[in-house]
Amino acid sequence: MELTALALVALHVTRTTSWAEGSVGLVVLCLLGVAHTEIAVGVERMRRRVTETPHVDLSSVWTFAGALLLPTSYAVLTAVVVHGHLWWRAWRPRVPAYRQLFSTATVVLACIAASTVVGSIGTGDFSGELSEGPMELVALVLALLVYTTVNSGLIAGAIAVSNPQATTVQVLGHWDENMLEVATLCLGGLTAVALAINPWLIVLVLPPLLVLHRAVLVRQLEEAASTDGKTGLLNAAAWHAEAERELRRTARTGGSAAVLILDLDHFKAVNDHHGHLAGDEVLTSLASVLRSEVRDKDLVGRFGGEEFVILLPGLDGDGEHSELRAVAERIRRRVAGLTVELATADGPLTVRDLSVSVGGATFPHDGADLRQVLSVADAALYAAKRAGRNVVRMSLHLPRQRPGVPFDEPPAASRGSP
Ligand code: GH3
Ligand code: MG
Ligand code: MG
Repeated sequence: MELTALALVALHVTRTTSWAEGSVGLVVLCLLGVAHTEIAVGVERMRRRVTETPHVDLSSVWTFAGALLLPTSYAVLTAVVVHGHLWWRAWRPRVPAYRQLFSTATVVLACIAASTVVGSIGTGDFSGELSEGPMELVALVLALLVYTTVNSGLIAGAIAVSNPQATTVQVLGHWDENMLEVATLCLGGLTAVALAINPWLIVLVLPPLLVLHRAVLVRQLEEAASTDGKTGLLNAAAWHAEAERELRRTARTGGSAAVLILDLDHFKAVNDHHGHLAGDEVLTSLASVLRSEVRDKDLVGRFGGEEFVILLPGLDGDGEHSELRAVAERIRRRVAGLTVELATADGPLTVRDLSVSVGGATFPHDGADLRQVLSVADAALYAAKRAGRNVVRMSLHLPRQRPGVPFDEPPAASRGSP
């Protein structure tokens, strides 16, 4: 990719006849790009820290404007200057140099492609008299599509090749990240138009750009605040909030839902034998088992420690909990067969013989709200532990309920380590 970009740049440089044309635009775009990074450097560093998915950086306002307005060589130079400065100030050392080189190459290729589109649509070069016809819009939209397809497509390809297990979101980025890219490019289009009319007007682009930048950070922080750092699942507070919302929806539509609480058996022994880092790897592996054994719409959360919770909307109306029990049994069997390979200082280590105890309850059968259903599922989990562990227990297995009191036999006051 880098070699292709270099070869195309060399081709365009040798074809350049006049270096004066576009030099004012080059200087203005580079200066504003650098100023933008300097003002937003704190926000940009934070954005890099809180997310691992493909990253839309707002510097394409300047690089896309360059592609629309400047000769190709200068458009490429703008991209290299703005992107390089952004990396130097905000992304280092989180983004290693080889990855920065690759992503700069994709931006350079995107600029060359967009510039070629604009150059081949005669009236759409933005630098002459503004015409009233729609051709400039057509050229701009085409260039925008080509720019984002080349840039995002190459990055998505690299992620897919380097990590075959990557999910669609990891490869293509979130929907709103892609919309952010389109919004940034639209702003880039307006920047090019402003620059063609009067270079001073371009200063007006900075305030909306900075506000957009902050708005994106807030969304990323919200996402980070609802995620459990160790497992990537919902954390307890976020799970509760989402589960409450889901149960309210279920109550409105007269449907049903189910809750599973899972607790790893004798997990303390894993820590004691293999260390806490190995314990953490086991928790991460268990989290992927849970995610892969339920539907996308099911809410999987980490309650804390080695306890997990799942809300399954739409399950189970038949009073026998058969569907819920099937899901719980499937998870229990997967965990019983789970092996976790670890690299330790003493060489590779395999953790096996894991097991999980599971308690299940359903809404509205076992309780009128989330708290009640959870307490019934929790009591079922105690029953599973008492039954010898590596066992699934449903609310049906519990002693009969008295009105107003969840169970005849209250669970022990505390479970787990002191
Ligand atoms: P039981 O079958 O009764 O559930 O036994 P247990 O050992 O799983 O339960 P106990 O509550 O006695 O121990 C839970 C252990 O989980 C103790 C604690 O050190 C460990 N633990 C809690 N959170 C974490 C974590 O984030 N990482 C690691 N490695 N261990 C954790
Ligand atoms: Mg446990
Ligand atoms: Mg526990």
